[in-house]
Amino acid sequence: MAWAKFFRRPGGNLGKSYQPGSMLSLNSCFLNSAVQVLWHLDIFRRSLRQLPGHFCLGESCIFCALKGIFSQFQHSRERALPSDNLRVALAEAFKDEHRFQLGFMDDAAECFEIILQRIHMHIVPEEENACTSKSCITHQKFAMSIYEQVVCHSCGATSDPLPFTELVHYVSTTALCQQMQRRRGGADSFGELLQAASTMGDYRNCPNSCGQKIKIRRVLMNCPEIVIIGLIWDSEQSDQTQDVIHSLGPLLNLSTLFSRVTDEHAKKGELMLVGMICFSSRHYCALAFHTKSSKWVFFDDATVKEVRK
Ligand SMILES: [Zn+2]
Ligand SMILES: [Zn+2]
Ligand SMILES: [Zn+2]
Repeated sequence: MAWAKFFRRPGGNLGKSYQPGSMLSLNSCFLNSAVQVLWHLDIFRRSLRQLPGHFCLGESCIFCALKGIFSQFQHSRERALPSDNLRVALAEAFKDEHRFQLGFMDDAAECFEIILQRIHMHIVPEEENACTSKSCITHQKFAMSIYEQVVCHSCGATSDPLPFTELVHYVSTTALCQQMQRRRGGADSFGELLQAASTMGDYRNCPNSCGQKIKIRRVLMNCPEIVIIGLIWDSEQSDQTQDVIHSLGPLLNLSTLFSRVTDEHAKKGELMLVGMICFSSRHYCALAFHTKSSKWVFFDDATVKEVRK
């Protein structure tokens, strides 16, 4: 089972009435789920619509294919829409790597991340490192600018900060469950649990070699509007599911997810859970929060259902 969770800032109400499900070729549930969650992220949908242009790749243009599906979602009255164009563009773009090929199942979280990476490439193809383009949805809205550092409490030595960018914050479910068991009865927030799980066992040597083993510190430097948490199911034990479900929280405070947060907005900001992609029995489905109706909607390829409490 694999889940990706999506958080966004509260506010914004651009929804329309329920959008159609996606119906398409064999084994495309991973793509359908990713597309439904992207469509329901108001910030993403609005930003994509407002983008003036892009560097087009024709047949294998993931950007055009995604815009095409979104336009159909907006205007069509059909109950389900084909997402074949995006499936074909994805297969064409990753032909050489033998990934996302037609008829084959693939990973929804990877697919989601790749769509975001491609959007960046279609907007600022020349920028490979730290992307600062104001029009790049991927880096402006989703990316987390982080640095890792080791600070020795014993001798005071600090390592050089190692900066990197993350689109998906991956956490092992085994580590998450271990942290939960350690805190039975404790009232740790979902963010605190995620931080403890993602740094669990990650001890480094003191940069000044004083002999201390020091826990890694991760510092967030920006304020992403949408945060994606990827839960990695790295255990064969199926009894993790209950614990993982119990650990989930509807709100995420960025300052609890990292050792330190430097951006003032990020310090105060609270993100709301708005989407989830689930994997079970070799099949993906998605849950997304529909802003306009304030309801959760369940998507399983062509099936669309309102979630009732
Ligand atoms: Zn294009
Ligand atoms: Zn970018
Ligand atoms: Zn030291």
